[in-house]
Amino acid sequence: MISTEGRPQWWSMAITRSALRLIPAGDTRDRWQQELVTELYGLSRTEQARHTWGVVTRAPALRAAATAPDRIVPEAVMRKPLRCRVGWHKWSHRYTDEHLRYLECTRCHKQGDAYDYLPPMGWG
Ligand SMILES: [Zn+2]
Repeated sequence: MISTEGRPQWWSMAITRSALRLIPAGDTRDRWQQELVTELYGLSRTEQARHTWGVVTRAPALRAAATAPDRIVPEAVMRKPLRCRVGWHKWSHRYTDEHLRYLECTRCHKQGDAYDYLPPMGWG
């Protein structure tokens, strides 16, 4: 869903940047801040809140993954994106040939089920 405002709320950008300060300063942190703030553009306030909460709750895991000794393997050749390695998949709805809906990560192509997906709060 694209909001007409486009630009993220100040609090979502500030909290996202602050949470990522857990990652040691440098190119990695800069890249994550840029990428995750960019993802806020075009989201509704509710979606921004959910995204921001996701950053806050996963920042420690991102830090651990970003500082892990096995990170000497260049990210470009890693088989699984860093966020997916910490369980933060980018779920998208897909349909089987029988028109049944399921979830698949657009980054690593992991297939999830309803339990892997947190529906927006208040939508039942
Ligand atoms: Zn994934």
